[in-house]
Amino acid sequence: MPQIDISPQTDFIRTIIDEHNKTGRFQGRVATRFPPEPNGYLHIGHAKSVCLNFGIAAQYGGTCNLRMDDTDPSGETQEYVNSIIQDVKWLGFDWERRLFYASDYYEQLYQYALQMIQQGKAYVCSLSADDIREHRGTLTEPGKESPYRNRPAEENLDLFKRMRDGEFEDGAHVLRAKIDMASPNITMRDPILYRIKRAHHYRTGTKWCIYPMYDFAHCLSDSLEKITHSICTLEFENNRPLYDWILDELKTASHPQQIEFARLNLSYTVLSKRRLIELVEREYVKGWDDPRMPTIAGMRRRGYTPEAIRNFCAKIGVAKNENLVDVSLLEHCIRDDLNERSQRGMGVLRPLRLVIDNYPEGKVEELEYPNHPQNPGMGSRKVPFSRVLYIEQDDFLENPPKKFNRLGPGREVRLRYSYIIKYVNMVKDEKTGEITEVHCTYDPETRNGPPPDGRKIEGVIHWVSAEHSVPAEVRLYDRLFQVADPMGQDDEFTKYLNPKSLETLTGCRVEPALTTAKPGDRFQFERLGYFCADLKDSSLGRLVFNRIVTLRDSWAKVSGQSKK
Ligand code: ATP
Ligand code: MG
Repeated sequence: MPQIDISPQTDFIRTIIDEHNKTGRFQGRVATRFPPEPNGYLHIGHAKSVCLNFGIAAQYGGTCNLRMDDTDPSGETQEYVNSIIQDVKWLGFDWERRLFYASDYYEQLYQYALQMIQQGKAYVCSLSADDIREHRGTLTEPGKESPYRNRPAEENLDLFKRMRDGEFEDGAHVLRAKIDMASPNITMRDPILYRIKRAHHYRTGTKWCIYPMYDFAHCLSDSLEKITHSICTLEFENNRPLYDWILDELKTASHPQQIEFARLNLSYTVLSKRRLIELVEREYVKGWDDPRMPTIAGMRRRGYTPEAIRNFCAKIGVAKNENLVDVSLLEHCIRDDLNERSQRGMGVLRPLRLVIDNYPEGKVEELEYPNHPQNPGMGSRKVPFSRVLYIEQDDFLENPPKKFNRLGPGREVRLRYSYIIKYVNMVKDEKTGEITEVHCTYDPETRNGPPPDGRKIEGVIHWVSAEHSVPAEVRLYDRLFQVADPMGQDDEFTKYLNPKSLETLTGCRVEPALTTAKPGDRFQFERLGYFCADLKDSSLGRLVFNRIVTLRDSWAKVSGQSKK
């Protein structure tokens, strides 16, 4: 059983299951499976399916299998299998001992195919791929029967065995179901069940040169595993009659119910393995776990938590109609989760030296801060305060507009959790005119409270002590695509990639408490957002942080909900 707590949900799929449980269709049993093809890494769309299948099993006290749907040797690899196993586990789900491979069923599937031929329900067709396509007809016109359709069973058996034995070239023959070339459902027009394909399979090597098609392998794999509810995405709706037809013709003991739901589409990204492979192979991103990728590996590295992803999947729910989910809902779930769990800290991304003229040289105050403002259980830490600090370059403006609530000539501002400072002057680089240093004075009476004279100071800026802070690299991410629906455009989708999706800042400074940040540790940097020490590149000697998400939540605006 999954160890994680999943609160029960209601949706149309669970309603169907309730009905089955009432009528006793599966004797009250609930067995689902998550069946990825190991030809790429899992993405957030897969997470929806993972949460749905494992979540249903948990809710009904049933089981969920993890099955590698590996019936197409091209593109499938052990690396992908490993990544899928790691990702589903990381999401928090447990398939116990039920990890299966469709490739383990090859012999059984072959026997089923022989049975089908013997029953006169499948035949070897020797038309070319083009001819088969031409014979298929269209939505408005029926198809034409293959001239090989009425081959006697013996001849079909002989040819099919010889296909397996490798006597024929790739494409010379296929095995087809004998159903109905005039069916209004094109899927039922004698679909291909097996093809000859000489390719090395990552598990079976060269043992096989014929491979079953998805429609044949999937229903039978489900049936062999005694799945009760075979949940898949909407594009398989037309394949359901074929799913049922195959199992009915073979009179399998177990006949699962296929149920389709709408796949997840997420704005400003693409969720299709083929497209994601393209991004990786053409090096638009740095690998499958690039923190900009919508893959589980990318999100893990970015700093998303499994809890937040599961919560997102629960929020979007399942339905029958496709839509585009706004990525700001995902970000909202990420913030919600990180707000509770992340220790606070201060970091300065683009440092500007700030000298406090009236603060004694060499003096250091250790200010004690809570690690989380609402959670005293998370403890506290000491932050050194000294005469020379770093503040954010854009927290000082030489000619600030009226509403600028930060530092500028003639202004006062509060240093986060610390003193109020007042502008004195600035130093510029003679050649470039760039501001290199700002001088201020501090008001010693304001460390923990408002100024005694009652003057109002609204602005608060963050800072680190120059001498005590440590260097860090920070990677800021923006959306991977510039348009909400990159696949909805007619042009090549890569045209819409956001050239500013990654900004790497190398001269950042963070407070000394962060020196011990371990890869994967998450923090809220005051005013800047949530950050995660990079799983690959960060080490105790070289801090590298990914910005997980900014603090500003745009979901309320997008969803039309007003925020209190
Ligand atoms: P892709 O379109 O990304 O290549 P796929 O359907 O080919 O995905 P599979 O490995 O076959 O990838 O998918 C495994 C399971 O995950 C299937 O049951 C599939 O329906 C489901 N799935 C894939 N993409 C999504 C998505 N965007 N939303 C919900 N479920 C999905
Ligand atoms: Mg698929």
